[in-house]
Amino acid sequence: MTYLKQDISLPGMGPGIAPRLVTHTFGNPHSGKSAYIQAGLHGDEHPGLLVIQHLLVLLKSLDQQGAIAGCVTLVPYANPIGMAQRVFGPIVGRFDFENGENFNRNYPTLSDAVREQVASGKGAGMTARDWKAFFQAQLDAQQPPRHVTGAMKLELSRLAMAHDVVLDLHCDTDAIAHLYASRLQSARACKLANQIGAPVVLVEEPESGGYSGGNSFDQMHANAWSALVEAGLFTPETAGFAATVELRGQIDISDELAQNDAEAILDFLAQEGVLSQEAATGKPRPHGAAQVYPLEAASHIPCPCSGVVVYLKEPGQQVLKGEVIAEIVTLDGDQFNERVPIVSDVDGVLVVRQLHRLVRNGQRAAFVAGHALQPGHRSSKLALDF
Ligand SMILES: [Zn+2]
Repeated sequence: MTYLKQDISLPGMGPGIAPRLVTHTFGNPHSGKSAYIQAGLHGDEHPGLLVIQHLLVLLKSLDQQGAIAGCVTLVPYANPIGMAQRVFGPIVGRFDFENGENFNRNYPTLSDAVREQVASGKGAGMTARDWKAFFQAQLDAQQPPRHVTGAMKLELSRLAMAHDVVLDLHCDTDAIAHLYASRLQSARACKLANQIGAPVVLVEEPESGGYSGGNSFDQMHANAWSALVEAGLFTPETAGFAATVELRGQIDISDELAQNDAEAILDFLAQEGVLSQEAATGKPRPHGAAQVYPLEAASHIPCPCSGVVVYLKEPGQQVLKGEVIAEIVTLDGDQFNERVPIVSDVDGVLVVRQLHRLVRNGQRAAFVAGHALQPGHRSSKLALDF
């Protein structure tokens, strides 16, 4: 049995206020494949926090049974800064109060260093373990950030890049479970999605800069490994794997969901060889096959005006181009109970809608995953409003 808890101190945010990260590691970091799972990088997304608590209990038991072939590191809260950002009560944990930056952007780019190493000929014969050491050396060579958020991001980067499999647990506002991953890792992402019961896997091209632009956490890992796949040194199956796992909506939190998600993740880790086969729960997961959707074909449908949005479609339902998916009840028009329709501009599946129903002009009303790129369709690079 091997278990290690570590505290990582971060720079102070003010006199007497110094946040810290905590890691729990089960298994032996020097043998077999390893996995890293964190939750709450966006401080206002909480389903993953409960999933990790269930994972801790399950992994403790598996560790006692000797069923952890490699090692698993869990970070129960990835962003103590965002989680502490409250405005008169509600947590506002997506953007850093210091500079407005999304907490899931601007992680280090390691793929350029990988390509240089490969081009120099020094990459030949390097094992996955060697490359993970290479990633650490690259991160260690970075100027230590003075600002607390920068220091936190670098610590999280170090942790993730030391592992083969990285799962970043998020959620959306009101949504079905869905995943973001690199196109090169579609097959493994679908295996994970089928365990969790996520029908939608959004894939993006390597080096696209993250699922909404700007080097997201999972893309740091995915792009570094994608460069190795593209160099022919690893295959999509033998390379590291990273995904952003969107565990439904912000209020979809229950012990039942969290236990199921935790067991699904363990079954995926058994498939990946991080856990031994005895660790798999063996539970049937009667979920439909997850489908891959190109992120570029997704549509962020804006609200045409302000008012109260009334949805006619649920997350997970199919929608057709031209179909009315919601109506906005204007509050300041001439008519009583006046409705303005919101129409889907793609054929696809409704993935996300707003949780809070008082909306403003231009705000995202819905996120629809489509199969085909639409002519003249706006890029999936997202605005700052969500
Ligand atoms: Zn998030």
